Amino acid sequence: MAKKSARKKVSGKPSVRAALTKAKKGSAAKVKPAPKRQKADLKAAHGASKPMTAAQIKEAFRRWEAASPEPTTELHYSNVFTLLVAVVLSAQATDAGVNKATPALFALADTPAKMAALGEDRIRELIKTIGLFRTKAKNVAMLAHILVSEHGGEVPRTREALEALPGVGRKTANVVLNTAFGEHTIAVDTHIFRVGNRTGMAPGKTVNDVEMKLEEVIPPEYKRHAHHWLILHGRYTCIARKPLCERCVIADLCQWPGKTIL
Ligand code: SF4
Repeated sequence: MAKKSARKKVSGKPSVRAALTKAKKGSAAKVKPAPKRQKADLKAAHGASKPMTAAQIKEAFRRWEAASPEPTTELHYSNVFTLLVAVVLSAQATDAGVNKATPALFALADTPAKMAALGEDRIRELIKTIGLFRTKAKNVAMLAHILVSEHGGEVPRTREALEALPGVGRKTANVVLNTAFGEHTIAVDTHIFRVGNRTGMAPGKTVNDVEMKLEEVIPPEYKRHAHHWLILHGRYTCIARKPLCERCVIADLCQWPGKTIL
């Protein structure tokens, strides 16, 4: 006897407008039990999600733009240099944790010259509440020196020059290029990796795969803010342990088998 398919067919899909109304009311989708979610996440993390169509991706960004036209970083900063330092400090730390420490640091040093003069020991003391503070203090002091000695006290605008600074990798360079200089870069962190894979927007096994895929599929008109829409969606809605599918505005577009499709 042929086995019954475990997956029910979904017929009579609602219109986009009806789906959005439902999503806003918080009744768009129900989350499956934890074991099923974990299995679906495991599959998604291996880049095996069903890809979203180009029309679905465009519609997802249209909705995110409608909900938040000018998204930006949650890190506090006052200029390009303090943004760079805040992003360096945020590696493996929360933005909220960084924001607690940086007011005192930036009050004393908001330029490369002042930071270089402050010195590693003092920086370490001021950021000791942030994870990996010893290494980060060393990197911030060194990068401040390099900016003064090699870049005229300015933060460089190229990826190569940024990535040559201590503590600055591809992700940090992408955040600075996007947030400070308006470049269409996407810094794939744990949140964006999860959202790209779960939704089927950019299935990929590595952060680089997901970054390349996102660059390929995001419509040009949404590239400027795509990074922040994706990260905020992952941080507050498509949460790792228990995504809030019931209030997700793209629930009907998402391809993740871990949620109940509309
Ligand atoms: S994108 Fe939305 S529907 Fe899909 S898993 Fe994340 S929260 Fe749930």
